[in-house]
Amino acid sequence: MTDGTFAESGADLELVGIHKRFPGFTAIEELDLTIPAGSFFALLGPSGCGKTTTLRLVAGLESPTSGQILIGGKEVTNQKSFQRPVNTVFQSYALFPHMTVLENVAFGLRRRKMAAPLDKAHEVLRLVELDHLANRRPQQLSGGQQQRVALARAIVNRPALLLLDEPLGALDLKLRRQMQLELKSIQEDVGLTFLHVTHDQEEAMTMADTIAVMNKGRIEQMGAPQELYELPKTAFVANFLGQSNLFTGPVVNTTSSAISVDIAGQKVTVPRARAQRATGNITVGIRPEKLTLHTAKPKRDAATSVMGPGRVVDVSFSGVSTQYLVHVPGVGQLIVFAQNIALESHVRDGDEVWLSWATSHGFGLEDDPAEAPRFSPDLDTRTIAAQRRLEDA
Ligand code: ATP
Repeated sequence: MTDGTFAESGADLELVGIHKRFPGFTAIEELDLTIPAGSFFALLGPSGCGKTTTLRLVAGLESPTSGQILIGGKEVTNQKSFQRPVNTVFQSYALFPHMTVLENVAFGLRRRKMAAPLDKAHEVLRLVELDHLANRRPQQLSGGQQQRVALARAIVNRPALLLLDEPLGALDLKLRRQMQLELKSIQEDVGLTFLHVTHDQEEAMTMADTIAVMNKGRIEQMGAPQELYELPKTAFVANFLGQSNLFTGPVVNTTSSAISVDIAGQKVTVPRARAQRATGNITVGIRPEKLTLHTAKPKRDAATSVMGPGRVVDVSFSGVSTQYLVHVPGVGQLIVFAQNIALESHVRDGDEVWLSWATSHGFGLEDDPAEAPRFSPDLDTRTIAAQRRLEDA
């Protein structure tokens, strides 16, 4: 942002009918998106889904094959990168090593001949809680501190739109968690529009007001983090954002409020309003932490779904919770997360168990079951090992 555009607050970003084709490869099939001013928006998806390409299009580092880009209602599609009211914070901080922290932050302001650059730089450094280190050089700071300087250097320009490209990727896990909360609170303080791309679902859920889950150059689902997590509409979203138990079977009964699906002889009910399809074969899902394990058959009623009996094939303790894998004949393997409330669990490897859940927590997917994967694609090694043991038995 060097043309003197100085936004007092964030601006809307609109992507209209964006298509991007590289020689021999289509990176973005079709993208229509409006990000409201002042929001923290995350584009979330696996490697290669088109996130960075989207960011580069907005920054003006790539041109769309077709479509329009508007910032604050003004078309910028054909503007050069430096003409756009946009700043980017990358994973690599790219600070000037020979300058102090203060000089790094004031650099852009000085270049644009803005008034009182040092005062403004101090103000932003106070915001990221680094003003006391203003006279240090970047190499005398920790990774997290350097990342905050990079953020301060971008924010001081008050761009209408701040682009964040995996900005916390180089930090260790603990620092990353801390920075997630700080970044969110800084965004709330400055009120700028943040567009953040990441493949880290926890990072997106912690920080963003709205998440768009991208897959193969398209947005699969968009919404508030909790909404996406509680009601995923596709198997991809159900498994990319957390883990899900998914079952497929024919719909055997439909009422105005619920549909019942036959899963290998077990009847599973899903609220009508939470199912994307209501006829034929459908895939239904339930999150692992919504399941309760029982050592005796529990009572099934309209509000409670029950599955079983099955057998526990793996138990893994992770501190706050214990993960159980339960094999139910004809259905497959289910994952259960149980909070560690009791000092000792009453369920052990090899036990016969039933599973129950509140019917209101289930969801039905819009995918054609013939194409939807039944289990999470990112199963951990213990899960895979337990599955192999079962197959070998
Ligand atoms: P990552 O998280 O790995 O950065 P991403 O979701 O950001 O992934 P992009 O960098 O947007 O993915 O790339 C999307 C697809 O477009 C990839 O398959 C990539 O190989 C392809 N692609 C990106 N840039 C080019 C290019 N200049 N020429 C050809 N193909 C490209």
